[in-house]
Amino acid sequence: MHVDLLIIGAGPAGMAAALAAAPSGARIAVLDDNPAAGGQIWRDSPQAQLPPLARQYRQRLAAQANIELLPGCRVVALAGPQALLVEDPEQGRVIHYQKLILCTGARELLLPFPGWTLPGVTGAGGLQALIKGGLPVAGERIVIAGSGPLLLASAATARHNGARVLHIAEQASWSAVAGFAAQLPRWPHKLLQSFGLFHPGYRAGSHVVEALGDERLEAVRLSIGGRLREVACERLACGFGLVPNLQLGQALGCRIDEGAIAVDAWQSTSLAGVYAAGESTGFGGSEKALAEGAIAGHAAVGEHQAAQRLWSQRARWHGFARALHGAFALGDEVKQLARPDTLVCRCEDVSYASLSQQQDWGRAKLSSRCGMGACQGRVCGAATQVLFGWPAPAPRPPFSPARIDTLLQLQQPD
Ligand SMILES: Cc1cc2nc3c(=O)[nH]c(=O)nc-3n(C[C@H](O)[C@H](O)[C@H](O)COP(=O)(O)OP(=O)(O)OC[C@H]3O[C@@H](n4cnc5c(N)ncnc54)[C@H](O)[C@@H]3O)c2cc1C
Repeated sequence: MHVDLLIIGAGPAGMAAALAAAPSGARIAVLDDNPAAGGQIWRDSPQAQLPPLARQYRQRLAAQANIELLPGCRVVALAGPQALLVEDPEQGRVIHYQKLILCTGARELLLPFPGWTLPGVTGAGGLQALIKGGLPVAGERIVIAGSGPLLLASAATARHNGARVLHIAEQASWSAVAGFAAQLPRWPHKLLQSFGLFHPGYRAGSHVVEALGDERLEAVRLSIGGRLREVACERLACGFGLVPNLQLGQALGCRIDEGAIAVDAWQSTSLAGVYAAGESTGFGGSEKALAEGAIAGHAAVGEHQAAQRLWSQRARWHGFARALHGAFALGDEVKQLARPDTLVCRCEDVSYASLSQQQDWGRAKLSSRCGMGACQGRVCGAATQVLFGWPAPAPRPPFSPARIDTLLQLQQPD
């Protein structure tokens, strides 16, 4: 397959990029490993309610004859200059492109604490995705903990589906949260959203200490404002913020800066012809993703004036992202929750004690099977960055499990 513009990720950033580039007439392909466009925030599934803006973006995408959406499609490996090997449920193939835009989004940061591997314990965004996907939670008692606005969004989804959210434990201090709230009038739409997300069980300066139970979660021990409290519940959802998905950018050789793909004013990475937008350049919400995606789309097809007209909009949402990062920076307490026997790599059962002696990710992998399980270090790699300050592990192909006949495509001349 040959295209002028290949976009990886069909979240807000990828959709905005495709729609901005489409009027140029370029042949565009947008691929995403999910079954439908929308990304994390506009995930389409049985119990999800898509907002009008999401429906509008999806309709506009479908109406463009020169945009081909490739759902359920994953990037497996680089396949030479300006080419990627991809796989969907039907086939593996190589896509050749002139320009590439990385809109790979972010994933949740999960930090280990005693009991975090018990059934019933999930990520905060993870629980939200499960509920949207059809998980019944009506009547269940749920505790949510970690950091950032995703805790409130997850609580809102759980309550909307009939769960009782008992506590939301936010690790940031009350003064940090109040400082963030005081800035919200700068973004009136966010201020309005925050009213809808208010929850009486929200407590700042609080964090999870331990998940308790034998076969599955029965209760959670929380530190609420410094006082320990045990709460019986069926589910615990913990998320400590988001980490950009850098894997593909790293594999291509794009410069990484402060844990995100580095871009210039045109959303161009350090590699000519490769752009990045949305959470992969640093998390900051869907509005930032939409603005950056549109700038990248215009720039990739050479429409620099149209891209420049969106700079002020992007600057506005970069301001929001800065406020978010400042207020919800992780404190030391949540970095010290694991005990020596707490598993850090839950795929391969590698404990905190066996990793804390190591100097870096490479040595940790050599001396244990850390990062070699099903998630390929996506969970424990990000956790060890926070716990031990190790740099992001470099990805090795195949980037995701792939069929043999897909891998064979790398051998065949096309
Ligand atoms: C679990 C979770 C839940 C969230 N829920 C909310 C919420 O309720 N409200 C809110 O305001 N914000 C939420 N966010 C924040 C959200 O990430 C952003 O607001 C917004 O979705 C960012 O848009 P994006 O296009 O940059 O990335 P995303 O929306 O994350 O889109 C990236 C897309 O790229 C795909 N992708 C990545 N790598 C590959 C690859 N190699 N091959 C194929 N496809 C790939 C991903 O599957 C995803 O669909 C959530 C984030 C997470 C991680």
